[in-house]
Amino acid sequence: MSRRRWLLADQLGPHFLDDPDQPVLLVEAHELFRRRPLHRQKAHLILSALRHRAAELGDRALLLRTGTFREALEKLGEPVELIHPPSRSALAFARTVDGLTILPPRGFLTDRADFATWADRVRRGPLRMTDFYRWALRHHRVLADPPPAETASRRRSPAADTPDVPPPPAIVEDDIDAEVRRDLDRWAAEGVRFVGRDGPRRYPATHAEADARLRHFVRHRLPEYGRYADAMSIEDPVLAHSVLSSSFNLGLLHPEPAIRAAERAWRDGSASRAAVEPFIRQLLGWREFLWQLYWYFEPRFRGVGWLAATEPLPEWFDQLDADAVEARCLADVLSGVRDRAWAHHTQRLLVLGNYGLQRGWRPAELVDWFQRSFVDGTDWVMNATVIGMSQYADLARVDTRAYAVDGRHIDEISDYCAGCRYDPTRVLGDLACPYTGGFEALLHRNGERLIGDPRLAAELADRDDPERREAVLAQEEKRGSTAP
Ligand code: SF4
Repeated sequence: MSRRRWLLADQLGPHFLDDPDQPVLLVEAHELFRRRPLHRQKAHLILSALRHRAAELGDRALLLRTGTFREALEKLGEPVELIHPPSRSALAFARTVDGLTILPPRGFLTDRADFATWADRVRRGPLRMTDFYRWALRHHRVLADPPPAETASRRRSPAADTPDVPPPPAIVEDDIDAEVRRDLDRWAAEGVRFVGRDGPRRYPATHAEADARLRHFVRHRLPEYGRYADAMSIEDPVLAHSVLSSSFNLGLLHPEPAIRAAERAWRDGSASRAAVEPFIRQLLGWREFLWQLYWYFEPRFRGVGWLAATEPLPEWFDQLDADAVEARCLADVLSGVRDRAWAHHTQRLLVLGNYGLQRGWRPAELVDWFQRSFVDGTDWVMNATVIGMSQYADLARVDTRAYAVDGRHIDEISDYCAGCRYDPTRVLGDLACPYTGGFEALLHRNGERLIGDPRLAAELADRDDPERREAVLAQEEKRGSTAP
């Protein structure tokens, strides 16, 4: 009989098993939930997915509930094999376990050696996702053949416009979810801390649930994806997003079938290239790029104080206290994190990350916050997206723009500002939008550090009045990290 395979909570889909008779180990290590406060819905999803996988595998699977992973392995008392874990800390632990075989990583299209060859070759300057994506399209022969004739084009969604599409297949909680909820209630009563609100499980915990959501997305939301990818609306937190990031990160879905399904939708004419291409770029471009970077730069991709970012996260933000916030965009996105443990990528970058960047919050604390508070938060995604893209703190090893924008930009791509107590065009005064004032203060505080970014350098050059500079800096310093 083959050696038992230990499946981590990120390896729960069918593509992490080969032999239909191979015994499996699953571990609920309670240290994961006690070390730092996770979002309650994230804790629920992880436990639910592990227990559902154990139930699917029946007698093949042994599910151990222990304090630590080491205790589980000692209790098992037999050698196991493990597919390459998704974080440096898990890999470091696995390397300390006697008799543990570590197999190559799965769940991605691009082989690590192929990425390293590409990156070594192009690395005269910073690595660019767009260059990698072009290489990946050719390498994996995605969107390769001549496109069908079409006339649709991508256009920015007008504010307050939302797609008219049916809701995705509902998640129906079962006895496993009820047991998870009872356990988490008990842990909370024993002193384990969580953030965010509990609620019905919103995200797939099994491959079947995730696959149903994927099919529904390709049929109904994908045709609208390009149009709404960058938009934000208080009316509709999902717009045309697939909301499958947690399913990919739990390993319930492999990205290749999703990419091929999107490609087929383009070929059969049910979705335009302008809709399909941004979705494929998310999976084949960004997702693969971030995973590969995490290991390529191992272990040196931690935040650097590039933009004088030394402030701690304020408590209202850390605790997802959206009720303390008057700024309509931030209140809406933060309440979405509190109530759903999720926000889409534009909200993450331009509302949450942008706010922290403008206030000089410590990048490493923001990484930890995103990881704990989002249902899809993982070390490899959050390191690169928060430190590199959102907080501009990777010393330009990767080609990132600073995702710093003012309230006028948020107004252009959302319906938030019309009902807000602040005015997105005002920099100074009681009505000054915290994003518009904060953006200008960021420019003044960082001055010469921004010269490498032509857009921000030009914005700074437009604001060279010393009196105004002093007034803006004084106003924003007074505002500090209080809830806006
Ligand atoms: Fe957000 Fe400023 Fe618009 Fe208010 S005015 S919603 S704070 S961008």
